[in-house]
Amino acid sequence: MNANTLNFSGGPGVLPESVLAATQQAIAEVPGVGLSILGISHRSAWFAEVVAETERNIRQLLKLPDSHAVLFLQGGATLQFSMVPMLLLRGSGKTAEYLRTGYWSSKAIPEALLEGDVRIAWDGQPEAFHRLPTDGELALANDAAYLHYVSNETVEGLQFHGIPGHDGVTRVCDMSSDFLSRPFDPERFDLIYAHAQKNLGPAGVTIVIVRRSLLEHVPDGLPALLDYRAHLAANSIYNTPPVFAIYVVLLATRWLLDEIGGLEKMAAINQGKAAALYQAIDASQGFYRGWAAPANRSLMNVVFKLATPELEAAFLAESAQHGFSGLGGHRSLGGIRASIYNAMTPQAVGLLRDFMQAFAARHGA
Ligand SMILES: *Cc1c(COP(=O)(O)O)cnc(C)c1O
Repeated sequence: MNANTLNFSGGPGVLPESVLAATQQAIAEVPGVGLSILGISHRSAWFAEVVAETERNIRQLLKLPDSHAVLFLQGGATLQFSMVPMLLLRGSGKTAEYLRTGYWSSKAIPEALLEGDVRIAWDGQPEAFHRLPTDGELALANDAAYLHYVSNETVEGLQFHGIPGHDGVTRVCDMSSDFLSRPFDPERFDLIYAHAQKNLGPAGVTIVIVRRSLLEHVPDGLPALLDYRAHLAANSIYNTPPVFAIYVVLLATRWLLDEIGGLEKMAAINQGKAAALYQAIDASQGFYRGWAAPANRSLMNVVFKLATPELEAAFLAESAQHGFSGLGGHRSLGGIRASIYNAMTPQAVGLLRDFMQAFAARHGA
């Protein structure tokens, strides 16, 4: 195990070793092209095919129908907090509904308020974001501009294991930290966005999957770069795109298809990894305190606390001595967060579980 394999960072996250090796090769010289990936024109036929193959791979992984377009944009997930309400809320006279389930969904709401009316359809903050709503708790309007939610709250480690809301309403989802970690039915979504740097590649590119019919009613006066139609018409090469980041996402989608064998297999691996860590938490008799309610536990971010800040500091220091990194909780929450994205291996997760058990034994569980 090298330092990269034991990197439990919340993001940018770990990438598969084969992807890192191919990336290293591409920085020197892309096979068959003879140039560095950092110096290849985005207007070359080669790069157009990189974009096209990445889209094909995503379509194949998700069984995505042609009713939905795939775009590669910049500005991170954060720009989507604005682009979504610019498209769907501005001038609509309607209200957008947001599920406020943690740090990231909370960040999306002020941006939507700049464009129109927002209703917080469920608010987890009074309970300090320890759980997600049940279907029965959601009283959603039929005439909302759209419903926005975050499928995996990366900071708190809360993940929806079903799809909230009714299918009559326009459903928008931020999947930044669990996109391509499991299969789902794309037809139940109208707009999905996910930046690459948690599960799929380096920072710099954000994947947007949008139902084409949504783009028939775009408000006037949007800057071209903030208008999805401009990117669609230009096959995501409207201006200079992040060539390098898109290439690494291509390599990651090839890895998912060829080495992992698709999203069902990826999901089974991810379930096994998460189960190992949650079992260690549950078996620790309160030494480790899981943050998320058990029904809402994330398969991507395992968040827990120890009894005191001193014990948490000791956990981080000793884990670092054993070669682990990235285990400190998000600055807004503290505690410990083990991010176990697609590329985190079961072997590395097993080592972390062993470390957790040994640490608990040493420190009095
Ligand atoms: C990390 C994260 C973001 C922020 O993404 P940027 O690319 O930094 O703008 C948004 N949403 C979710 C769910 C995240 O995990």
